[in-house]
Amino acid sequence: MRSRYGLSDWDAAVSALCAADEVAIACHVNPDGDALGSLMAAYLGLRQLGKRTFASWGTTPAKIPYGYGFLHVEDALTDPAALPRTDTFLALDCGAADRLGELEGRASDSRCTINLDHHPGNDNFGALNLVVPTASSSAELVMRLLQDCGVEIDRAIAVCLWTGVVTDTGRFQYSNTSPETLTLAAELLGLGVPAPDLASEIWGSLPFAYLRLLGVVLGRARLVAGAGLVYSWVGLDDLEVTGTSLDEAEGLIDALRSTRDADIAVIFKQQDDGKFRVSLRSKGPRSVGAIARARGGGGHELAAGFTAEDVEETVEGIRRDLTR
Ligand code: 5GP
Ligand code: MN
Repeated sequence: MRSRYGLSDWDAAVSALCAADEVAIACHVNPDGDALGSLMAAYLGLRQLGKRTFASWGTTPAKIPYGYGFLHVEDALTDPAALPRTDTFLALDCGAADRLGELEGRASDSRCTINLDHHPGNDNFGALNLVVPTASSSAELVMRLLQDCGVEIDRAIAVCLWTGVVTDTGRFQYSNTSPETLTLAAELLGLGVPAPDLASEIWGSLPFAYLRLLGVVLGRARLVAGAGLVYSWVGLDDLEVTGTSLDEAEGLIDALRSTRDADIAVIFKQQDDGKFRVSLRSKGPRSVGAIARARGGGGHELAAGFTAEDVEETVEGIRRDLTR
């Protein structure tokens, strides 16, 4: 075993996980491919070592997002209120403790909280912090952590890890794709990951109704001249009219960002409580992380999010920030 990524806590985290009989694992609320893939890889890997493992995220009920059925998260998932209180708590892909939602208290209550993440500006909320902002994904870190714990990365674990890497790198197109990322991806392919099948599951299995929603959202997209900003929104009534659900709408932001006339894309997605989850993407170098942090959210410099009450007011604020 060797310390990885120059992290002083790495070896201690490996020792803590190896010594634990049971581990509760949680990823962030509204989990994406990296959160789910990291969660399931850690769950399967630690189980392979004979530990009792429990997986959750802090939303009740924990609804599994669309397109990730092949991860079989339902086999592992415990609702947050039922998550056993274990000494060792592994938090995955959470830039801050509040990303744990209903499980935020576990970060401070557990005897040993391991905070594994790749968000810049992570506030090191764990007792042990494995934060590597240069990593493509949390899945990349989970793979090395599991290997250092003696886990054999089998095909099922490789599928989970691949999911995290391909979703967080946008299929290897973003700047977080490093030589190390591709080396790791090559290892995963070598383990038999069915990459085309997974791509088709993740990006090519939306219901026809999604195309109607896409039409609505693109039809009302607006370009904010002078700010390099394109935005659109999805209201609860759009979901009702088109017969779609919000977790099918994750890809809308990618359609918006495909224009050369804007380097920043923003989508507003209305939640059941009426508020909007805002997703931001930048083609670089301008940071959307700063915009999200200033509004109580967070994320990476080129992909970030926050929650807002009103679309037009928020766009006006972002426009002001971008043009000053
Ligand atoms: P997405 O737009 O895909 O929901 O999120 C993009 C990135 O921003 C992800 O890394 C996600 O974890 C992060 N993010 C999204 N919403 C929030 C938020 O409300 N708070 C924080 N801290 N990070 C967020
Ligand atoms: Mn991630």
